[in-house]
Formats: sequence, C-alpha cells, structure tokens
Amino acid sequence: MALIVQKYGGTSVADTGRIKAVAERVVSTAGRGNQVIVVVSAMAGETDKFERLAGEITDTPDEREMDLLLSSGERVTSALTCMAIQKTGHDSMSFTGRQVGIITDSSHTKAMIESIDASRLKEALDEGKIPVVAGFQGINEFSDVTTLGRGGSDTTAVAIAAALSADACEIYTDVEGVFTADPRIVPDARKMDRISYDEMLEMASLGAKVLHGRAVEFAKKNNVPLIVSSSFNQSPGTLVTKEDGDMEKIVVTGLAHDKNQTRITIMRVPDSPGIAATIFDAIADANINVDMIVQNISSDDNATDLSFTVSKKDEKRALEITEKVSNILGSRGVSINSDVAKVSIIGVGMQSHFGVAAQMFETLSKAGINIMMISTSEIKISCVIDVKHMETAVRALHDSFNLAKV
Ligand code: ASP
Ligand code: MG
Repeated sequence: MALIVQKYGGTSVADTGRIKAVAERVVSTAGRGNQVIVVVSAMAGETDKFERLAGEITDTPDEREMDLLLSSGERVTSALTCMAIQKTGHDSMSFTGRQVGIITDSSHTKAMIESIDASRLKEALDEGKIPVVAGFQGINEFSDVTTLGRGGSDTTAVAIAAALSADACEIYTDVEGVFTADPRIVPDARKMDRISYDEMLEMASLGAKVLHGRAVEFAKKNNVPLIVSSSFNQSPGTLVTKEDGDMEKIVVTGLAHDKNQTRITIMRVPDSPGIAATIFDAIADANINVDMIVQNISSDDNATDLSFTVSKKDEKRALEITEKVSNILGSRGVSINSDVAKVSIIGVGMQSHFGVAAQMFETLSKAGINIMMISTSEIKISCVIDVKHMETAVRALHDSFNLAKV
C-alpha cells in the first residue's frame, strides 16, 4: 500500500463546492488502495484578507499575533475538507500544525520547521482515517503558533511526506504543472514532464511562484518525489525529482522572471578594503536580503560605483540605510531604480554546454534590450533589465532556446 501526501492550494479549496471536489479526489485515491494524508491551504484570498485586516489596525503588527491570525485560514479549510470527506462515508480527522507535532523555530511569519512528531498521523492512518492537516503552521518551543512564510503549505506537505517516508507528495494547484515560462507571458510555454530539484529551486527563488522554495529544498534533502498538477483535471503534471543524465542534455530547462526587484546604486564610493563589508553589514543587520551585486573597476578618482538589488518590499529601508552609509563613506550619492526586472534562464545542462551566456546576451541585444546587471551560478544566468522590456525579453529567450519544443 502506497502512502501519498496530497496538498491542495487555495484555489482548489476556494469554496465549499471545490472542497467537495477535493474530497472526491482524495477518496478516489484512497479507493485505489492508497493511504492518503491531505494538507490544505486557506481558501483563496483568505491569507491576503488577514494581512489586510491587520494593516487596517497597525502598520507594525506584532508578529506573534500575526501568526495566530494567519494560521486560522488553514484551520477553517482543514475542518471543512474533513467534513466533506466524512460526508462521502470515509473516516477522516482534521489536525492543526500543533496537533501533528510540527515544531518550528521562533521566527514568526517565516518560521523554519525543526521537527515533526508524526505519531498522531500514524495512529490515524492505522485506524483507517484520512488525516487532513492545516498547512502553513507549527508551534515554537513556547507553544506559540508560528507560520512558515507565504506559500508555506507546500512545505508542510513535503515535511510530512519526509517524516513518514511517503511514496509521493502531490501538490495540487490551479496550473497543470511547472511550465518553461509563465504561460500568461509566453503563449507557447510548455508544461515540463520532469525537472530536477536544483532547477526547481532556482525557478522558485528566481520568481516562478508554483512551489514554495523551502518545500523544494526539503524534498531534495529527503529525496521526496514531488508532483505538481492541477486539481481541476486529470492531466499528469510535472515530476520534481533527482537529476539524471537525460536532464543534462537539455541546455535550458526553463525561464523565470521577477518584477519584484529594485536596484540601488552608490555612486563614487572610495575603492578601498572594507567598503563593501561596511555597506552590506549595515543592510544585513536590518535583515534585508541582497540579491545581485555589481561593482565597477575604479577609475582615476579611485572611486567606484556599486549597485545591488533588493526586493521591492525592502527598498525604502535599504535606501535609508544606504544613504546613511554613503554619507559616512563620503560617496557622491545614492540612486534608486524601481523599474527593473530580473529575467533568468535555468538548466542543469548549462554546466556541460558552451556559449549559453553569449546566446542569452545576444538574444537580448537583438531585441534592443539593455542589460544592467548579470549574475550567474552553475545552473542559471540572470539579467536585470528595464521592467518595460521584461515580457519581450522572456518571449525572445523562450524562442531563442527553443523551449516550446520538447
Ligand atoms: N495560505 C498561505 C498563503 O496564502 C499558505 C499557503 O497557501 O501555502 O500564503
Ligand atoms: Mg502556493
């Protein structure tokens, strides 16, 4: 008998009609002789609503209270889904994060799972029940409710699958799988049959929203096969799995884009040891993540321009800090550009093929698009460009690397 964890996202449980459809899918999986554990998100829009409500009261909500608020959406759907399964005649029991023993650290609103005591889940399975777990939440060492960061129900599902050595973790969403690019931008984007964990990790961190990055990390570490598919039809979806030789034959597997970027430049900073450390220490102290960094070679004045990107939500604070540091260092000033986007090509095959970067730059150049910043890793190349060219860039790259064809 196989053990399958099925996670249903917000649109799949958006109303009671859809919740009943989910119950049917779950029961039919169980009917084929499998043990099933269900993990649910909040109904579509609920988590946003909670954030909005908190925002109507204060700009700086206490994070402990925020977590209790945010976690409530998943509790609602777990109970309703459980009822819908019971209505079909199957035994079922709902659980909060606390009840399935998900222990996290104390970083409220972005907590990391530290351990899972899955004994209650095992018990329920042994008793022939279908457990329905509220995703996205756990408790910390003080028994306070924590949440795992937006999109975190994926991580709950994978963590449970890992803890119970499940045979598969199926992530049901409103798209049919992982696409070579966002189909809303590239009409001939293709659904991939398979993608490696590392490629998926890059896709997720570079802006593809289909899976929570931490869920992929967890899946990779514990070798959990992940299947992303639509809960609205029966099409087979995308398998996220270990890399193999066949994957390396493909140079570029997919594209990602991210509009959520801001570039900050400090002009004419002294080119001497310790300067970069001073700037980025100050930014790190404020818990702001810096993505790309570009520093030019200094010219006659022994000064250089230094640019970096942060996510839009951090731009105000990053700018304030950079201006302060810039004053101290005696640089010429700070400029900010919020109209930038990052486009990236991803593929494990890059490691064994030449000229991939050149082809990317040439494609952008032919489309008349200026590259502001570049960063590379073994399996991805990212370029920061003007946001107004983003869609053109994504389409041109999709064409150039032949991603529409298998
Ligand atoms: N409900 C949470 C969110 O909207 C968690 C999740 O759905 O994965 O981010
Ligand atoms: Mg999601």
